[in-house]
Amino acid sequence: MSTKAIYPGTFDPITNGHINILTRSTLIFSKIILAISINPNKNPMFSIEKRVEFAKEAVAHLKNVTIIGFSGLLIHLAQEQKTNVLIRGLRNITDFENENKRYQMNAKLDPSLETIFLLASQESSCLSSSLIKEVAQNGGNVEPFLPKTVFQAFTSIYP
Ligand code: ADP
Repeated sequence: MSTKAIYPGTFDPITNGHINILTRSTLIFSKIILAISINPNKNPMFSIEKRVEFAKEAVAHLKNVTIIGFSGLLIHLAQEQKTNVLIRGLRNITDFENENKRYQMNAKLDPSLETIFLLASQESSCLSSSLIKEVAQNGGNVEPFLPKTVFQAFTSIYP
Protein backbone atom coordinates (compact mmCIF):
# COMPACT_ATOMS: atom_id res chain seq x y z
CA MET A 1 0.00 0.00 0.00
CA SER A 2 1.29 3.43 -0.87
CA THR A 3 0.25 6.81 0.41
CA LYS A 4 2.79 8.50 -1.82
CA ALA A 5 2.52 8.96 -5.60
CA ILE A 6 4.67 10.42 -8.35
CA TYR A 7 3.20 12.83 -10.90
CA PRO A 8 5.78 12.81 -13.70
CA GLY A 9 6.04 14.95 -16.84
CA THR A 10 8.09 17.46 -18.75
CA PHE A 11 6.15 20.47 -17.41
CA ASP A 12 7.61 22.82 -20.06
CA PRO A 13 6.18 24.91 -18.46
CA ILE A 14 3.70 23.94 -15.75
CA THR A 15 0.15 25.04 -16.67
CA ASN A 16 -3.15 25.37 -14.83
CA GLY A 17 -4.07 21.97 -16.30
CA HIS A 18 -1.15 20.32 -14.49
CA ILE A 19 -2.04 22.19 -11.31
CA ASN A 20 -5.62 20.94 -11.50
CA ILE A 21 -4.42 17.31 -11.67
CA LEU A 22 -1.85 17.90 -8.94
CA THR A 23 -4.34 19.56 -6.57
CA ARG A 24 -6.84 16.74 -7.01
CA SER A 25 -4.06 14.19 -6.42
CA THR A 26 -3.20 15.79 -3.08
CA LEU A 27 -6.73 14.96 -1.92
CA ILE A 28 -6.13 11.27 -2.65
CA PHE A 29 -2.51 10.76 -1.57
CA SER A 30 -0.79 12.10 1.53
CA LYS A 31 2.39 12.92 -0.41
CA ILE A 32 2.93 13.77 -4.09
CA ILE A 33 6.30 13.97 -5.82
CA LEU A 34 6.03 16.25 -8.85
CA ALA A 35 8.85 14.79 -10.95
CA ILE A 36 10.07 17.00 -13.78
CA SER A 37 11.82 15.12 -16.54
CA ILE A 38 15.04 16.74 -17.73
CA ASN A 39 14.14 15.28 -21.15
CA PRO A 40 16.70 16.87 -23.52
CA ASN A 41 15.17 14.79 -26.39
CA LYS A 42 12.08 16.99 -26.25
CA ASN A 43 14.20 20.14 -26.60
CA PRO A 44 12.45 21.96 -23.78
CA MET A 45 11.93 25.71 -24.02
CA PHE A 46 12.75 26.18 -20.32
CA SER A 47 15.78 24.74 -18.49
CA ILE A 48 15.20 22.12 -15.81
CA GLU A 49 16.14 24.72 -13.16
CA LYS A 50 13.54 27.14 -14.50
CA ARG A 51 10.83 24.44 -14.75
CA VAL A 52 11.49 23.41 -11.14
CA GLU A 53 11.41 27.07 -10.02
CA PHE A 54 8.08 27.69 -11.82
CA ALA A 55 6.56 24.58 -10.26
CA LYS A 56 7.82 25.46 -6.77
CA GLU A 57 6.25 28.91 -6.95
CA ALA A 58 3.00 27.63 -8.42
CA VAL A 59 2.41 24.94 -5.82
CA ALA A 60 3.83 26.63 -2.71
CA HIS A 61 0.32 26.58 -1.21
CA LEU A 62 0.15 22.75 -1.41
CA LYS A 63 1.98 21.48 1.65
CA ASN A 64 2.23 17.80 0.71
CA VAL A 65 3.97 18.29 -2.66
CA THR A 66 7.71 17.94 -3.31
CA ILE A 67 9.26 18.99 -6.63
CA ILE A 68 12.23 17.17 -8.10
CA GLY A 69 14.04 17.00 -11.45
CA PHE A 70 14.85 13.54 -12.79
CA SER A 71 16.23 11.64 -15.75
CA GLY A 72 15.97 7.99 -16.64
CA LEU A 73 13.17 5.49 -16.29
CA LEU A 74 10.10 6.01 -14.12
CA ILE A 75 10.36 2.47 -12.77
CA HIS A 76 13.73 3.40 -11.27
CA LEU A 77 12.45 6.69 -9.89
CA ALA A 78 9.51 4.87 -8.28
CA GLN A 79 11.86 2.35 -6.66
CA GLU A 80 14.09 5.18 -5.42
CA GLN A 81 11.08 7.06 -4.02
CA LYS A 82 9.67 3.87 -2.45
CA THR A 83 6.29 4.07 -4.11
CA ASN A 84 4.55 2.05 -6.81
CA VAL A 85 2.01 4.66 -7.90
CA LEU A 86 2.22 7.09 -10.81
CA ILE A 87 -0.37 9.73 -11.65
CA ARG A 88 -1.06 10.88 -15.19
CA GLY A 89 -3.69 13.21 -16.64
CA LEU A 90 -5.94 12.29 -19.56
CA ARG A 91 -7.37 14.99 -21.80
CA ASN A 92 -8.50 13.06 -24.85
CA ILE A 93 -8.17 9.93 -26.97
CA THR A 94 -4.65 10.91 -28.09
CA ASP A 95 -3.51 11.06 -24.45
CA PHE A 96 -5.23 7.74 -23.84
CA GLU A 97 -3.36 6.06 -26.68
CA ASN A 98 0.01 7.42 -25.58
CA GLU A 99 -0.63 6.63 -21.93
CA ASN A 100 -1.81 3.13 -22.74
CA LYS A 101 1.51 2.40 -24.49
CA ARG A 102 3.53 3.81 -21.59
CA TYR A 103 1.45 1.88 -19.07
CA GLN A 104 1.87 -1.41 -20.96
CA MET A 105 5.62 -0.90 -21.22
CA ASN A 106 5.97 -0.01 -17.53
CA ALA A 107 3.91 -3.09 -16.63
CA LYS A 108 6.40 -5.25 -18.56
CA LEU A 109 9.40 -3.57 -16.91
CA ASP A 110 7.94 -3.57 -13.39
CA PRO A 111 4.55 -5.27 -12.87
CA SER A 112 4.23 -3.75 -9.39
CA LEU A 113 4.04 -0.20 -10.79
CA GLU A 114 0.48 1.15 -11.06
CA THR A 115 -0.74 4.29 -12.83
CA ILE A 116 -3.77 6.25 -11.71
CA PHE A 117 -5.34 8.34 -14.48
CA LEU A 118 -7.29 11.48 -13.69
CA LEU A 119 -9.48 12.96 -16.39
CA ALA A 120 -8.82 16.62 -17.20
CA SER A 121 -11.36 19.07 -15.85
CA GLN A 122 -13.67 20.73 -18.36
CA GLU A 123 -11.84 24.09 -18.10
CA SER A 124 -8.40 22.56 -18.64
CA SER A 125 -8.90 19.79 -21.18
CA CYS A 126 -7.77 22.05 -24.06
CA LEU A 127 -4.59 23.16 -22.27
CA SER A 128 -1.18 21.82 -23.22
CA SER A 129 2.22 23.38 -22.65
CA SER A 130 3.00 23.20 -26.38
CA LEU A 131 -0.25 24.86 -27.49
CA ILE A 132 0.16 27.60 -24.89
CA LYS A 133 3.73 28.25 -26.14
CA GLU A 134 2.43 28.50 -29.70
CA VAL A 135 -0.32 30.94 -28.71
CA ALA A 136 2.14 33.07 -26.69
CA GLN A 137 4.66 33.16 -29.55
CA ASN A 138 1.96 34.51 -31.82
CA GLY A 139 0.83 37.24 -29.47
CA GLY A 140 -2.27 35.57 -27.93
CA ASN A 141 -3.18 36.14 -24.29
CA VAL A 142 -2.17 33.08 -22.29
CA GLU A 143 -2.71 34.60 -18.85
CA PRO A 144 -5.84 32.54 -18.02
CA PHE A 145 -3.98 29.27 -18.59
CA LEU A 146 -0.84 29.74 -16.52
CA PRO A 147 0.35 30.32 -12.96
CA LYS A 148 1.30 33.96 -12.42
CA THR A 149 5.10 33.62 -12.57
CA VAL A 150 5.00 31.49 -15.71
CA PHE A 151 2.80 34.09 -17.40
CA GLN A 152 5.25 36.82 -16.32
CA ALA A 153 8.12 34.84 -17.86
CA PHE A 154 6.22 34.69 -21.16
CA THR A 155 5.56 38.42 -21.10
CA SER A 156 9.28 39.08 -20.82
CA ILE A 157 10.11 36.63 -23.64
CA TYR A 158 7.32 37.88 -25.94
CA PRO A 159 6.70 41.49 -24.82
P1 ADP B 1 4.77 14.51 -20.88
O1 ADP B 1 5.87 15.16 -21.63
O2 ADP B 1 5.22 13.40 -19.99
O3 ADP B 1 3.52 14.17 -21.66
P2 ADP B 1 3.50 16.88 -19.80
O4 ADP B 1 4.31 17.84 -19.03
O5 ADP B 1 3.01 17.29 -21.12
O6 ADP B 1 4.37 15.58 -19.81
O7 ADP B 1 2.26 16.39 -18.93
C1 ADP B 1 2.42 15.66 -17.75
C2 ADP B 1 1.13 14.93 -17.47
O8 ADP B 1 0.08 15.88 -17.26
C3 ADP B 1 0.63 14.02 -18.58
O9 ADP B 1 -0.03 12.91 -17.99
C4 ADP B 1 -0.37 14.88 -19.31
O10 ADP B 1 -1.33 14.10 -19.99
C5 ADP B 1 -0.97 15.63 -18.16
N1 ADP B 1 -1.54 16.91 -18.58
C6 ADP B 1 -0.96 17.89 -19.30
N2 ADP B 1 -1.79 18.92 -19.48
C7 ADP B 1 -2.96 18.58 -18.88
C8 ADP B 1 -4.25 19.20 -18.74
N3 ADP B 1 -4.51 20.38 -19.29
N4 ADP B 1 -5.20 18.56 -18.04
C9 ADP B 1 -4.94 17.34 -17.50
N5 ADP B 1 -3.77 16.70 -17.60
C10 ADP B 1 -2.79 17.29 -18.28
